Amino acid sequence: MDVGFVGLGQMGHAIAANLVSAGHQVSLWNRSPDKADDLVSQGARLARCPADTAPGGVVFTMLADDAALEAVSFGEGGLLSAAEPVLHVSLSTISPTLAKRLDEAHRNAGGRFVSAPVFGRPDAAAARKLFVVAAGASEDIAQVQPLFDAIGQRTFTVGEEPAQANVVKLCGNFMIMASIESMAEAMTLGVKNGIERATLNEVLTETLFGGLVHRNYGKMLVEEAFRPAGFAAPLGLKDMRLVKNAAEEARVPMPVLGVVHDHLLSTIAREGEDIDWSGIARIVAADAGL
Ligand code: NAP
Repeated sequence: MDVGFVGLGQMGHAIAANLVSAGHQVSLWNRSPDKADDLVSQGARLARCPADTAPGGVVFTMLADDAALEAVSFGEGGLLSAAEPVLHVSLSTISPTLAKRLDEAHRNAGGRFVSAPVFGRPDAAAARKLFVVAAGASEDIAQVQPLFDAIGQRTFTVGEEPAQANVVKLCGNFMIMASIESMAEAMTLGVKNGIERATLNEVLTETLFGGLVHRNYGKMLVEEAFRPAGFAAPLGLKDMRLVKNAAEEARVPMPVLGVVHDHLLSTIAREGEDIDWSGIARIVAADAGL
């Protein structure tokens, strides 16, 4: 299938590489064009601008945040200025508000919009193990299902309104962050009572907390494997801000959110922007005098 792909960061590059290796004809654009070099050498085409990636066809975007997606959608050479309207599939973690705005703008331009944020870090993206959470018109999702199959292990369709997928994604990221916070607090309590983090982690992940989040992040906390960041703290902070906005709009008090938001802020202030979001464990430990 012909497909455009915009955004070759940690996630986007791995996903685009899987589309190329699955035999799709991929046209790429990234703000920093050198990130496309290896994929071009594997047969992908380098487009002049986002609008040039696949006019009249399907374009995936995987970008940092709302501002980046706005730039490649509404800016000069953006997707909404494509010669023919596109089916835009947004994989980024963005606000439900922007998803609504993009849905409307594409429909007004004669195009279509599907929101399909993903669960899974860059290693899962490289291994085609992402979980895709899609929302939009069912015929649009059916059209791009072969592309989802090339990048992930399973697609969940959660509604007809694209923004609903972004709400699900934000709920998931909030729960990951809250789980990391609770693991960090428990491990700190353990350490101050002479129990090694690895011991506590083994007991809890092999009994009551055997899910992916506890296992993967538990191991990272035990090993203090916070650099290089698979999901950088500033991106985590961006997501907690999006959760806060969505919670305010829906009038939902989320007191735990305030704690993890502030711990992410402290982490970035003390450790810099290159630390993984699970690095909040350092702040939890420091607050306990460790
Ligand atoms: P990343 O490595 O920081 O990549 C960000 C991408 O956005 C790059 O292609 C960057 O271009 C582009 N970009 C940033 N600002 C831009 C602007 N103003 N105009 C145009 N392009 C711009 O981030 P990532 O880890 O791949 O994450 C991408 C998205 O996936 C985010 O929404 C994130 O929340 C979500 N996500 C991440 C993970 C994870 O574990 N990393 C997991 C699931 C979902 P340059 O190359 O030119 O900088």
